Parts: sequence; structure tokens; C-alpha cells
Amino acid sequence: MSERIHLSRAHVTDVEEKYVLEALRSGWVAPLGPMVDRFEREVAERSGVAGALALSSGTAALHLALLELGAGPDTVVVLPSMTFAASANAVAYTGAEPVFVDSTDDANVDVDLLVETVETLLSEGRTVTAVMTVDLFGRCCDYTALGDRLERLGVPLVEDAAEALGASHAGRPAGSFGRAAALSFNGNKIMTTSGGGMLLSDDLELLARARYLSTQARQPAAWYEHTEIGYNYRMSNILAALGVGQLERLDSMIGRRREIRRRYTAGFADIEGLTFLGRGADGDASGEANDNHWLTCISLDPDSVAVDPTTLMAGLDAAGIEARHLWKPMHLQPIHADRRAALTGVSERLFATGVTLPSGSELGDEQIDRVIAETRRLLLAS
Ligand SMILES: *Cc1c(COP(=O)(O)O)cnc(C)c1O
Repeated sequence: MSERIHLSRAHVTDVEEKYVLEALRSGWVAPLGPMVDRFEREVAERSGVAGALALSSGTAALHLALLELGAGPDTVVVLPSMTFAASANAVAYTGAEPVFVDSTDDANVDVDLLVETVETLLSEGRTVTAVMTVDLFGRCCDYTALGDRLERLGVPLVEDAAEALGASHAGRPAGSFGRAAALSFNGNKIMTTSGGGMLLSDDLELLARARYLSTQARQPAAWYEHTEIGYNYRMSNILAALGVGQLERLDSMIGRRREIRRRYTAGFADIEGLTFLGRGADGDASGEANDNHWLTCISLDPDSVAVDPTTLMAGLDAAGIEARHLWKPMHLQPIHADRRAALTGVSERLFATGVTLPSGSELGDEQIDRVIAETRRLLLAS
């Protein structure tokens, strides 16, 4: 049998090898070093923000952003229900209460419902320290619809752009929309440092404070002097070197994922009841939103497709193909069952009908064609 086809694998070439070797041979093996500084500069530039802080994970970036905005006990952070657990975990680390909001059809947060939820919480006298948006599956949420509505309510925005590096909305890069934003370089993301993340902001003071907290909150003294609790969240120089190489190849990796999306849309065009999450191959019709095409997600309408996602995924798995459910909404997670949530049923429907397909930039046309053929066989068999 041919090799297993994975959902989204790290895609590393001799470009990355060169930078990692350079870092190793330079002697900067200890945490921090010139590659970290360079990686921060280059990512900040690419993302259209004034500064960046390289960290051990995207979750760490979210945690520090929320701390800097004052999230803590007796405060609330409003965020989408449909997201990866890390978004909500970061809120929980601070002691703040997460309040979840449902999605629109492209899986991103329902902006009207989000603003309404914040207004309701404020009218109850609650302290909303931040709203977190999540740019899901490589697509920015609708920042045009959000506009300055949060600013007028006096609530800062944290953008979880962990899945969206290289995407844009209305000409602005993902990662530039909030007071602070988080990127992830986990192994399955659009680019990787094998594990890592970055905090982005135009607010250099916020970044400086986060930098201090990320290095065990060490005071400037000849000895180790501490006046508050810190974290060990910094990225190592070796991993930053991997990131510098990956960033150099980011556009080509996004281009390949876009081609894969096109191949899927062409391959499934005639299947009734199969739709693509989001705005098709190239963003929305007006060209306002540009995906980075991190993952291609399809949705199966149970009224016209007899096969449900779980059956399809089991069939694909048997054929050596990895496919997955969309993120299970947080309000359906046992750990968050008692949390407050503003729901419309959309994220539950998306979860029940959605499948993410192999989308990694290292996949060749033959492999995508194999996924298309197997999926067609499974969907059209009944
Ligand atoms: C991957 C991811 C994170 C966390 O990033 P790590 O680097 O794995 O900590 C946070 N939010 C979302 C939406 C993600 O997909």
C-alpha cells in the first residue's frame, strides 16, 4: 500500500537545514540569540505590526496577551466557541471566565452576536477585559463587520491568528487586527519551528512587559531578583533558525496549499450537497479576504449526502488517508459544559457535517487525486 497521506505535515527542505546548521555552528545554542531577533523582525514586517516576541508556543502568546490586557479572576474574556482548545485554555490560565459565541457559516465567529454578547455582559456590570477573535482554518474573521464596534465599547481585541499567518482581510495581514495577536508555529501549522509561537503588537510597551514575563520576570539586577511571577516562554535560537527558513518559503507553501484547494474544488464540483467551508479557492468574491488555505474543509449536507463525516473519515482512514472533524465547539466540551455561551446552532451543525482534508504543502498531485478518488468512491457508493 502507498504511504499514508497526512492532514498537514511539517514541510522542511534544505533551506531550513542551512539556517539551522548556521545557528548550531554559530555557537548560539542556548535560548535566545541573533536568529530569534531576526525571526521576530521578519515576522513583524510580514504581519504589518511594529514588534514581535518569539515564544515557545502560540498558547503562551495568547496567555501573555491576555495577562497584559488585565484578564484575571472576576473578569470575562469573550471568544468563539468553535476553536482549538488552546484559545480557551489561555483564558482559563489567567483565571478569567471564558464566554463563548457561536459561528457563521464560514466557521468564524458571528460578529453581530459577539458584539451583542459583550454589550449584554457590560450592561450586567461585568468587566470584559478582552475579546478574542480566531481566524479559523487560515481565514480571517470578518473584521469589516467588526469595524470599531469593540473600541466604542472600550474592549480591546486579541487576535488568535495561530492558523492564519499569510492570510489577509481588506488588504491587512492576519495578526495586525488586535491590540495584540498570537501566531503558532506548531508542527501542523502553515509554517513551523517544530513548536513555537509569536506575540505581535504595535504596542511596544505591551511587548516589553510580555518579554519580561516570558523570561521568568527577572528584574534588571546583578543577581536573580523577582517582584512577580514569571514564565519560561521564550523560543530558542535553533528553532528560530528553522522559522527563518520556513518564512522564506511561506509564500510558496501557501501557493501549494491554494493549488490543492483548487484541485479539491474541481474534483468535487459535481457532488451535490458537498460544499467548501469559507469562500472557495481564492477568498471571497469581492477579493476582500485572502485565505492562506491552511486546511481545506468540506461540509456534507445530510439531506443530499447519505454518508456522514464519521463514516467518511473511517473509510478514508482504511485507505491510508488522514481526515479530521472540524474543531469540536468549546460549549460541547465536557470541561466547559457549565460555561456561558451565546448560541445559534451553527457551530454544532458545522461540527456535525464538516471534514478537514489533507492539505499539507508537501503533498503531490497524485496524493490529492488519491484523496479525491477515495472520497468520491465513499460518497457515491451509497
Ligand atoms: C494551534 C492553535 C493554537 C495554539 O498554538 P500552539 O503553538 O500549539 O500552542 C491556538 N489557537 C488556535 C486556533 C490554534 O489552531
